Amino acid sequence: MKIGIPRAGMYYRNGVLWESFFEALGMDYVVSPRTNKAILENGSALMVDETCLASKIYMGHVAYLLDRCDALFIPWLSNFGKDGINCTRFRAFPAITANLFREKAPTIITYAIDLSGTQDMKRAGDEETAFISMAKALGKSKKQIRDAYRSAKETALNDFAQKIRQTENLADGSGKKILLVGRDYCIYDDYIGQPILKNLHRQGITIIDANHVDRLQAQRDFTQISDGTLPWIISRELLGGIVHYRSRIDGIILLTGFPCGPDSIVNEVIKREITDKPILYLLLDGQDGLAGVETRIESFIDILNFQTTGEEKNG
Ligand code: SF4
Repeated sequence: MKIGIPRAGMYYRNGVLWESFFEALGMDYVVSPRTNKAILENGSALMVDETCLASKIYMGHVAYLLDRCDALFIPWLSNFGKDGINCTRFRAFPAITANLFREKAPTIITYAIDLSGTQDMKRAGDEETAFISMAKALGKSKKQIRDAYRSAKETALNDFAQKIRQTENLADGSGKKILLVGRDYCIYDDYIGQPILKNLHRQGITIIDANHVDRLQAQRDFTQISDGTLPWIISRELLGGIVHYRSRIDGIILLTGFPCGPDSIVNEVIKREITDKPILYLLLDGQDGLAGVETRIESFIDILNFQTTGEEKNG
C-alpha cells in the first residue's frame, strides 16, 4: 500500500515524524510536491470561496495525491490539552476529504489527537497511543509500532532542536533582523511565504522564524503578550516566539493567508501589545502577484534603516 501525504498544513510541523514513522515501519509513501499553480487552482475550485488560503492549498495537495496513492494520510489533530487547541480546519480535513471525493471513496488513514477529556469521537488519545491505534489497522504489531514511533519521535525532536539552534545563531548574529510571525505551513509554502522569504534574503535581511522556539517555554511566555485564555496552540507558540526573540530583532512581519480567523484576532493583540518594534502586516490571498507586497516590504526595510540611522545620530 502506498500512502499519500499532503505537503501542506501540519506536514510542516510533523512531516519529519510522519515520514520517519512510515519509513521505520517499512511502509511505502509519497509526499505531494511543493505547491504550484495547478495545486492551488485545484484546491480553490474544490473549496468554498470563504475558506482560508491554507485550506485551499491543503485540499489541492489531497486532490493531487488522489490517483497517485492507495490511501490518503489525513490526521485529525484537534486538542492538545493544556497546550491548547488547533484551528477547526485540522479537525475537519478527514471529513471534508471523504465528502469532496465521495465518488472515488478514497481510503483515509488517520490518527487523532484529542486530549479534551470529552472523548466524544472515540478517537482520543495522546500521540503514541494514537499512532498505535492507527498502525494496528495497517497490520503492524504493537511492538513494531511503538519502536517505530519512539525512533521517529526522537528524529523529529532532534530535527526541531537543530532548527532552534540555527535560529538562535541567526538571532545572535549581526545585520538587520526581521522576526517572521506566521504559521509554518504559510511561511514555507511556495505560494504564500517563500516569495516573501526570497525577497527579504535578496535585500540582505536575516529572517528569524518565530516558530523555532522551545515550545514548552513558549507556552509559559505567551501570557506576557496575551491573557491566558488564548486557545490556539500555534498562536500561543508564536507569541512565545515574539517574547523570546523580541530583544534581538529590528522589526516584525506578520504573515497571514487570507482569511484566517485565529490570526485576525491574534495579530490585533500583537499590534496592540508590541509597541517597541515596527510591524508589517502581510495578508496574502495567493492571487495578487507580489508587486504590491514587494513595495511594502521595501518601505518597511526603509523604516528599519531610518530607525537605525536615527538611533546612531542620537548616540
Ligand atoms: S489557522 Fe488560519 S490559516 Fe490555518 S487552517 Fe485555520 S483558518 Fe486556515
